[in-house]
Amino acid sequence: MPSNATGPASRTADKNTAPPLPEPLRVPVADSHTHLDMQSGTVEEGLAKAASVGVTTVVQVGCDIKGSRWAADTAAAYGNVHATVALHPNEAPRIVHGDPDGWSRQGVRAGGGDAALDEALAEIDRLAGLPQVKGVGETGLDYFRTGPEGKAAQERSFRAHIEIAKRHGKALVIHDRDAHADVLRVLKEEGAPERTVFHCYSGDAAMAEECAREGYFMSFAGNVTFKNAQNLRDAVAVAPLELLLVETDAPFLTPAPYRGRPNAPYLVPVTVRAMAAVRGIDEDALATALGANTARAFDY
Ligand SMILES: [Zn+2]
Ligand SMILES: [Zn+2]
Repeated sequence: MPSNATGPASRTADKNTAPPLPEPLRVPVADSHTHLDMQSGTVEEGLAKAASVGVTTVVQVGCDIKGSRWAADTAAAYGNVHATVALHPNEAPRIVHGDPDGWSRQGVRAGGGDAALDEALAEIDRLAGLPQVKGVGETGLDYFRTGPEGKAAQERSFRAHIEIAKRHGKALVIHDRDAHADVLRVLKEEGAPERTVFHCYSGDAAMAEECAREGYFMSFAGNVTFKNAQNLRDAVAVAPLELLLVETDAPFLTPAPYRGRPNAPYLVPVTVRAMAAVRGIDEDALATALGANTARAFDY
């Protein structure tokens, strides 16, 4: 490596450079949660790159009306892409508060208030009925990005998404950021759908045991490789094998040693290997379970 490789200019270049292809998995798996619409390159390129290392299926997650329509359209066009549709927990308060830069430009009436949220939820409900849409989410609670003023809208939206998932018999994809207790409480109050996935699982081992008792799937992202994430590795260690999933949440949460660089589904093998090491099991055995679990969770 040249001596200037650690200089500021090369660090900047490195930050925007796609990490190299990992060694392929021998047993194919699915990226259980990705955002292809936020990644660079075409969908074809992203899927081909992923498939070249054994990531043969992806679940494309919608976060707003526009993204949910895109997810449904993309899943209709590609057999190995499955869609989920939702208003993200940080999107719901924006709709209620009438954010002019968000949903109102997406072909849904502007104005805000609970009526606007209901109108947006009706479109999610319609999309959830499509056959290529396998899940409702990401929904849930996010107390990190949404302040107390958005809590009521967030919880109302979460409850509505649970109802939609149950009525259509689709998986529920949970986004839980700094809101573990309330997410578990709302699920219990509403009655969780038969198949519920905690995406980017962020709890500890004790919460993993609680999720296991309820039969919730736990999907781990690249942050399980981060030095400060021992709680996630403890959760990977205690979660039942049949409830484990893997995801990228790309373009976010790129696994170590590529943290900070662009993430994409082809980096799933890095996270699979980290999880296998934590559990002390063979990479192929874990990949076999992950592949089967994702198909069961999303019923494809
Ligand atoms: Zn999320
Ligand atoms: Zn996501």
